[in-house]
Amino acid sequence: MQTIETPVLICGGGGAGLSASIFLSALGVESILVERHTTTSHLPKAHYLNQRTMEIFREHGIADSIYTRGSKAENMGAVAWYTSLAGDGPLDRKMIYKMDAFGGGNTSQTYARDSACRSGNYPQLRLEPLLREHAERSPLAQVRFNNELLSFEQDASGVTSTIRDGVSGETYQVRSKYLVAADRGRTSGPTLGIKLEGPTGLVDMVSTHFSADLSPYIDDDSPLIRWFINPEGGGSWGSGAIVPMGPNSYDRHSKEWVVHFAFRPDDPDFDEAAVVPRMRELFKLPNLKLEVHKVSHWIVEAVLADKYRGGRAVVIGDAAHRHPPTTGLGLNSGIQDAHSLAWKLAALVRGQATEKLLDSYEAERRPVAARNTRWALFTFMNHFVIDAGLGMIPGAPPAANAAAFATLLSNSDEGETARARAHEVIQTQRTEFTAHDLEIGFHYTSGAIVGDGTPPPPRAPMGDVYHPTTRPGHRLPHVWLEFGGKKVSTHDLCGRGRFVLFTGSKGQAWKQAATAAAERFGVELQSHIVGNGGDCVDSTGVWEKLREIGDDGAILVRPDVHVGWRVQVMPGNPGQALESALGKILGQ
Ligand SMILES: Cc1cc2nc3c(=O)[nH]c(=O)nc-3n(C[C@H](O)[C@H](O)[C@H](O)COP(=O)(O)OP(=O)(O)OC[C@H]3O[C@@H](n4cnc5c(N)ncnc54)[C@H](O)[C@@H]3O)c2cc1C
Repeated sequence: MQTIETPVLICGGGGAGLSASIFLSALGVESILVERHTTTSHLPKAHYLNQRTMEIFREHGIADSIYTRGSKAENMGAVAWYTSLAGDGPLDRKMIYKMDAFGGGNTSQTYARDSACRSGNYPQLRLEPLLREHAERSPLAQVRFNNELLSFEQDASGVTSTIRDGVSGETYQVRSKYLVAADRGRTSGPTLGIKLEGPTGLVDMVSTHFSADLSPYIDDDSPLIRWFINPEGGGSWGSGAIVPMGPNSYDRHSKEWVVHFAFRPDDPDFDEAAVVPRMRELFKLPNLKLEVHKVSHWIVEAVLADKYRGGRAVVIGDAAHRHPPTTGLGLNSGIQDAHSLAWKLAALVRGQATEKLLDSYEAERRPVAARNTRWALFTFMNHFVIDAGLGMIPGAPPAANAAAFATLLSNSDEGETARARAHEVIQTQRTEFTAHDLEIGFHYTSGAIVGDGTPPPPRAPMGDVYHPTTRPGHRLPHVWLEFGGKKVSTHDLCGRGRFVLFTGSKGQAWKQAATAAAERFGVELQSHIVGNGGDCVDSTGVWEKLREIGDDGAILVRPDVHVGWRVQVMPGNPGQALESALGKILGQ
């Protein structure tokens, strides 16, 4: 049997695996990706890309394509709840509430302050081909669709994987130093003995991707997600939600849409034949012309892998965590897992780090996934709180719920009170649609972070307030600086495999320390003085407010743009302090 050698084998060509391929190539690491299907997924699935993901895509030259091809900012800054799209009954075509979402409306200044990137919206079925195109562009990556990983085994120096080529039907072996399992756990889970723990089988979601002209029934282009709640449907998840799928625009003129319905797993009413009449009923458009592209089912669960690593194999994406799509953390976390892992694998492959650095992947990413998993379930369940906030009683006869709706929409004192209550209750769903802290405020604690004993910033219980900080473990705050005559984000100075040391106007001695440390560990370590006489100018003064160090202090940023170490004032021997910190991060 033929054997091919590569430093890294990636199993799975979904969003996480393709991202891993791109990120490894950007770091100069060769890889082979195998995907058992002949094409990327035809299922609509994820669409919302949060600011952290877009920052990572900006680092890799992908963000602009997403902004150009995906939703415009003005078509994704809100979500809204309606009774129906059409119909001429007294309760039809009513907007119950609209709220800011994804960095739109009143949150736009805060989101723009905290990141160089706005969030994006680009359906997964269009994103994956774009990622595939980027992955295939690198001569360092072999991207092999229609190739299935059949089995793998490990020894002290590597992983031997057996793969079947779907075209020839022949099997071959790949010998790699590491295996990145982005296969939703299908093959890696049983082989590594990984257990996904947590509640499963909660709800059966049916997502229908269809084409229809809904423009005559929509008069507001700002919501990205439109929820329908009416007494007949039984509540928000039971009633359904629609999302535009483009491809050319994501406003009322979107040609394609997806509608999500939720059912109890034992509900017999979910078969595909039932979906189209149900859609027409939901929209109150009994004669709507539509073409169904795909009906897919997925079980809502909130499960987390009990371990992220088995020897030289590491899991990312849905192989490590699966949870409801509410808060849109699934694909985003998978891409961020890939980013977090790539620089560590690159450092290992280059011999700059020890296996301890690989251990830090689980130590850092698993707690983030644990929080995301719980959060996604919480925000999923909160839709039932919204139903209650509208006066709906689960299981009550439609007439009782219709009476509650009639009050809610009535021109009366009771109606005004019911609406005020509904609006306050729906605002709690900002935990899903303005989860700013969940998205960019997560932080790591591990052997690859040298803590300084300071406490984390206060945590907003609703997850909507992010506090920028340079505390070790946190994502470096984004600040616009002037560098080389250009306006750049602090993030633009980082990433792409580099360690970066930021210091202030009295930090000249750090430059020499950085050069020596880079040489000692064989890593790229750039230093920047921000302030008088430095190479970076903080003309707005924002960096000085956020940096949390003195003019002679230093902040060491890892290649994943998380702070690895900081010191508020220059120690007696800055070179020694920096080398000690860098050595710890690299596990040396
Ligand atoms: C309806 C829906 C809406 C969602 N909305 C959002 C959202 O708005 N935002 C968000 O972030 N997330 C969302 N998600 C979640 C998101 O789609 C998933 O988290 C994401 O697809 C996970 O990506 P992945 O690459 O880890 O896994 P997958 O996309 O499942 O890819 C795994 C790949 O591995 C391949 N594979 C498996 N075994 C083998 C093998 N042995 N050999 C070769 N290949 C193999 C499979 O064929 C597959 O292509 C949503 C999910 C659903 C279902």
